[in-house]
Amino acid sequence: MKHNRRDFLKRSSVLAGSAVAGSAVAGSAIAASLVTVPMAEAAPVRRGAKPRMTLRFRAYTIQLRHVFTIATSSRTTTPVVLTEIEYDGITGYGEASMPPYLGESHESATAFLSKVDLSRYENPFELETILHDIDALAPGNPAAKAAVDIALHDLVGRMLRQPWYNIWGFDAAKTPHTSFTIGIDTQDVVRQKTVEAAEYKVLKVKLGRDTDKMMVETIRSVTDKPITADVNQGWKDRAVALDMLHWLHEKNVVMVEQPLPKEQVDDLAWLTERSPVPIIGDEGVQRLADIPKAKGVYSGINIKLMKCTGMREAHKMIVLARSLGMKVMLGCMTETSCGISAASHLSPMVDWADLDGALLISNDVYDGTQVLDGKVTLRNRPGIGVKKLKG
Ligand code: MG
Repeated sequence: MKHNRRDFLKRSSVLAGSAVAGSAVAGSAIAASLVTVPMAEAAPVRRGAKPRMTLRFRAYTIQLRHVFTIATSSRTTTPVVLTEIEYDGITGYGEASMPPYLGESHESATAFLSKVDLSRYENPFELETILHDIDALAPGNPAAKAAVDIALHDLVGRMLRQPWYNIWGFDAAKTPHTSFTIGIDTQDVVRQKTVEAAEYKVLKVKLGRDTDKMMVETIRSVTDKPITADVNQGWKDRAVALDMLHWLHEKNVVMVEQPLPKEQVDDLAWLTERSPVPIIGDEGVQRLADIPKAKGVYSGINIKLMKCTGMREAHKMIVLARSLGMKVMLGCMTETSCGISAASHLSPMVDWADLDGALLISNDVYDGTQVLDGKVTLRNRPGIGVKKLKG
């Protein structure tokens, strides 16, 4: 048993991965070095040998520009894990972003990624097989799985020398405007953030506390542009919620995310039937298999790569939701431009985009999809379209 464990540690560099995660938590995230899994695959490919994929990953902590408060929590940092998959001299980039309330962490993601052995696949183009196997490695871990999915998509796009919006057949000109999120705060801060957000055509306001009407009225004292609202399960009573939805509709709030706790399925269906604005499921809809039972409960779904294991499943979710006549929103966590760029290639297909995650952070690691004049603006670069900025 002891011997097996030592072999396993040697093979998967769990020890190195843990040390990296630990140092990142302690605040020296940038200094964390790349961890190669398995180490043996990092060696130069022998002449004549078939190239194989190598996965590397490192823990990193992104810093938020402002304290970010939603109905249930506040924070100033988000733990992420950055991945790279190298094959035949080409490198694809990926990311797992893990807000603490969702249950994943530096430790859980590095432990999961230590189990991933991409060297056994000869052909990186076999996305369906490879990513099915990754998903089957362990339950949960959607962000860690997305970190492999995104890097593999980036690698394949670079090998094809095409951006993913082209591979999927989407029109890059049809990207939506992204909303810009205003967290729960004091009246003065909300007013100031609304003024600063002049570039954005849609604002997203976080609700779910007893300051809801103040938040919306403060924004309305500055601008009449459309607002989307995210309650993050913060309301509990469906009749009170319906009154609020009518009030919000009068204030030109055009859509509301997760007004009630996800467990109140019957109340959500009751509310969706009567609501003057579309009701979007976020916390209540994680993955592809959740969509059929979300029909009738919500008007639409909020797809996030970090909830659904990445680009492959997100694409399937859009197709399925559309086939059921549901609306689609594309969201994000606080992420670097890597995760945001990956999601942005799907954005020509959605009703609403909330892809402001990289705009809220101060230590981005990549240059990728931009927000220009409030519009998601894809780069004509292969893969997910990112360039590494540092480290
Ligand atoms: Mg939400």
